[in-house]
Amino acid sequence: MSSRTQDIERTSESRRPTIYTEAMEVFHRASDLIGLDRRVRMELEEPDYEHIFYVTLKLHTRLVPLPQAEAPRYKDLGDSELLPDGLEPLLDGSFVFKRRALINANVQMREGVMRLKGKGLYKVLPGRPERFKAYRIQHNQARGPYKGGTRYHQDVSLDLFKVLAAEMTWKTAIADVPFGGGKGGIKVDPRSLSSEELEALTLRYMYRLKPLVGPNLDIPAPDVGTDANVMGLMLRQYTDGERERHSLRGVITGKDTRIGGSEGRVKATGQGLAYTIQEWFAERGTTPAGSSFVLQGFGNVGSNAAEILTHLGSKLLAVNDAGGTIYNPHGIDAQDLITYVYENPANLRRTVAGYPKAQQIGKSDLWDVEADICIPAALGGEITGSVAERLKVKLVAEGANGPTTPDGDRVLAKRGIEMIPDIIGNAGGVTVSYYEWVQNKRMEHWSETEVNTRLEQAIKSNYRIIRDISRNTPRRTATHNSTRYCIGKEIDMRTAAMVLALKRIEAHYQLEGFSQ
Ligand code: NAD
Repeated sequence: MSSRTQDIERTSESRRPTIYTEAMEVFHRASDLIGLDRRVRMELEEPDYEHIFYVTLKLHTRLVPLPQAEAPRYKDLGDSELLPDGLEPLLDGSFVFKRRALINANVQMREGVMRLKGKGLYKVLPGRPERFKAYRIQHNQARGPYKGGTRYHQDVSLDLFKVLAAEMTWKTAIADVPFGGGKGGIKVDPRSLSSEELEALTLRYMYRLKPLVGPNLDIPAPDVGTDANVMGLMLRQYTDGERERHSLRGVITGKDTRIGGSEGRVKATGQGLAYTIQEWFAERGTTPAGSSFVLQGFGNVGSNAAEILTHLGSKLLAVNDAGGTIYNPHGIDAQDLITYVYENPANLRRTVAGYPKAQQIGKSDLWDVEADICIPAALGGEITGSVAERLKVKLVAEGANGPTTPDGDRVLAKRGIEMIPDIIGNAGGVTVSYYEWVQNKRMEHWSETEVNTRLEQAIKSNYRIIRDISRNTPRRTATHNSTRYCIGKEIDMRTAAMVLALKRIEAHYQLEGFSQ
């Protein structure tokens, strides 16, 4: 192959769209519109640092279901009885085997196979070490320390973390909190690990991360697959043995309220989304009462948004999650659904599937349900062009990060369906993370009312600035000023949000300059 052909191939390869280049479309659009300084644009186009590393873990012994085809060979094998306390069930149907399972046990094993009483045949898979790929992407710190969540999921990649880290740079600027953007995590399905393994993996991850993060450098938080418990473990690993460990609490946000977490943090993202939806109705002189919504994702964001919105009088018609989809035209009681999903030990997968007070429907039927609002609050890329063609709603309010593809955006705009973009819709989480960080620095503990009062004020006022940019209605009052941000013409809400972010970030480069 000639070097010229190779060059052409390389060029076309570098132009092949990736989820990162796709996600950056809106950045480029907004940069062009405001004539963003060339050098600032370069600073923001790629992350400051891309850390990729590996963590190893010793997996415990497992009992895995024996393939059906091998079962006849063991039909005469008698029952084994193990102490149930020593077996931890995993979602893939296997059990993590702990030594205490053998206390007073009666074991009959042949070729590593045993029949668990009442459960069937299992093969022993001896414990082994395993290697996991881990990431921390630090996108930009012009406005403050890197800030962003920690995701444990089997489908993560460098490109995805770059997208999510850049999103945090825009989001922290839009929320007007003094942070930059970062994101990280581990390529692992956390549901395939025992609680002890998850703890060991988290401690090892933070051990490797410690030189890269800190309360004034990079501040991780929870995201998909991690929670306050995982944050507690990360905090412990970071602060263990440090002389002034109490002053380091702000290295992690999303902690339990008993160890320095903020009141209102668990609900903050759903609460923030609800505030933007309230503001959307307020512009129309009404409230969410009497409206209806469909929801994708019933995790932290989805379940809390559902609870708050139904409390405000909006009717939840359908919910889809990783396990299934449910529909009830008369409305679903969000609180009751939370009990079904989270307080029912038999619901191992924590899914809405099987909820008895609704019909079970197919995943794609969700998009055909007629409602006022559609809330995607699961993973990215779900509202594609073809999904957007089907939606029978007036508003898409994005709880998830990047749930609408650029194609989806174009179709929604063409169909006149309005949009609350993710970078303001789900900014409640990082806003309260900032409150948590401030409380940690000051050694204070604010009440939930105080947190929510500040959150409501912050989210609604930034939402109003974005709306003014979108409609090109610059306004200045004692408490509101969008004159600095409007660009002299109307633009869609997503681009408007990006304009706000870029103007706030650009100010730092313009006024503080570039270090050499
Ligand atoms: P979570 O892990 O608590 O819940 C995720 C939900 O999505 C679950 O109900 C799961 O069943 C569902 N889901 C997963 N895969 C799915 C699929 N293929 N189809 C349908 N549903 C699926 O996560 P979370 O914290 O609620 O985060 C949800 C989204 O919100 C993510 O995009 C996250 O990045 C974003 N977000 C979260 C926060 C936060 O504070 N938790 C803040 C900002 C943005």
